[in-house]
Amino acid sequence: MKAVTWRSHRTLEVAEVPAPRIEAPTDVVIRVTATAVCGSDLHLYELLGAFIEPGDILGHEPMGIVTEVGSAVTRLSVGDRVVIPFPIACGACAMCLRGLHTQCETTQNRDHGMGASLFGYTSLYGSVPGGQAEFLRVPLADTTSIRIDGSLPDERYLFLSDIIPTAWQAVEYAAVEPGQTVIVLGLGPVGQLAARIARLRGARVLAIDPVADRRAMAERHGIDVFDRDRLDAVWEATGSRGADAVIDAVGTEASGNPFVKAAQVVTARLPTAIAKPVLEATGVDRLAAVHAAIDLVRRGGTVSLVGVYVGDADVLPLKTMFDKQLTLRMGQCNVQRWIDELMPIVEDPADPLGLDDLITHRGTLEDAPRLYELFQKKEDGCIKVVLYPQPSEAVA
Ligand code: NAD
Ligand code: ZN
Ligand code: ZN
Repeated sequence: MKAVTWRSHRTLEVAEVPAPRIEAPTDVVIRVTATAVCGSDLHLYELLGAFIEPGDILGHEPMGIVTEVGSAVTRLSVGDRVVIPFPIACGACAMCLRGLHTQCETTQNRDHGMGASLFGYTSLYGSVPGGQAEFLRVPLADTTSIRIDGSLPDERYLFLSDIIPTAWQAVEYAAVEPGQTVIVLGLGPVGQLAARIARLRGARVLAIDPVADRRAMAERHGIDVFDRDRLDAVWEATGSRGADAVIDAVGTEASGNPFVKAAQVVTARLPTAIAKPVLEATGVDRLAAVHAAIDLVRRGGTVSLVGVYVGDADVLPLKTMFDKQLTLRMGQCNVQRWIDELMPIVEDPADPLGLDDLITHRGTLEDAPRLYELFQKKEDGCIKVVLYPQPSEAVA
């Protein structure tokens, strides 16, 4: 089958690889009908090469049709239509029962001291082959699949794999109440949806991004937008008190810190044996967004970090955080936990999340190298990319 594979720093190859088979009785195999590219994939493309092997299959936002079912799978049959959450979870351990699927004790990566395995996401998260491919093996399939009973097009359901629940969790963790002011940093796909969800819940939303196309999309959805160098104007818009909550939907590759960017570029090119300990033990993250979040939140407010951070020795302003009496919540999204609340919103004919206005680029698997580059460089208005392994399945 064809799959999008990582080769080296900023180089992908659409390769012919063996199709997956059932390996454990709890597996299913799906034929992928649609599969998205995520801002998290860009961290693999740019920064985290030390934790991927050439040939590893990328992707963690797929959906498709079940083609094979392991003997211990009880909830799925051949022919079912499913969307696949990015965390691989058992549904039965102490963490899953608390709704913390990204901490699943069955799939935790204890050798790296890391949480649950994720599709297509490095040796830190289990080196599980990803979903930018014609077929995908889904481990622990009863909990790692969402069966779709409705009949809307793929593009309505696809983002239940990651970015809708991720944005939802970011807003939950921000403890947003109607009438409060929320600032969203970063208007990539995750920030777009977090801003829309916070607004849907009755908050006043201010959002910041350096890219004009991304600000324009947010404006179409009633969000007040600001360029990254206008933090003073954002502060004034909160009555110079700060926002009740700030959501950081940027993460480790925030623009605005050229020195750390240079260090990231160097690290990405080091041999794996040197880069791994550097990445694991040092402060490699570009912290412009998290520092802005701490500055822009009001005293006693909440900072919700949804952007991914990867350094273990980042310097944070603890004096300020302590003195401002902040609440800080963060983490990968426990996708499975939010699906019952989100399915009716996704299927609502009124499209309350404006999902019809998010995808900017569609292509086949062969288009992946070109579309990753556009998405990373934020060229040609690129905001969200969806790949169709069978071009005939693409929605025009
Ligand atoms: P993206 O790269 O498209 O979005 C990041 C946005 O931040 C871009 O629009 C960029 O212009 C903007 N930005 C850069 N520097 C900024 C700054 N200093 N201030 C304000 N904005 C700035 O990616 P995405 O798909 O929207 O993902 C956003 C983040 O969320 C990534 O770090 C991704 O890894 C993470 N993520 C986390 C989870 C989770 O489970 N927690 C899930 C999905 C994605
Ligand atoms: Zn993702
Ligand atoms: Zn579990």
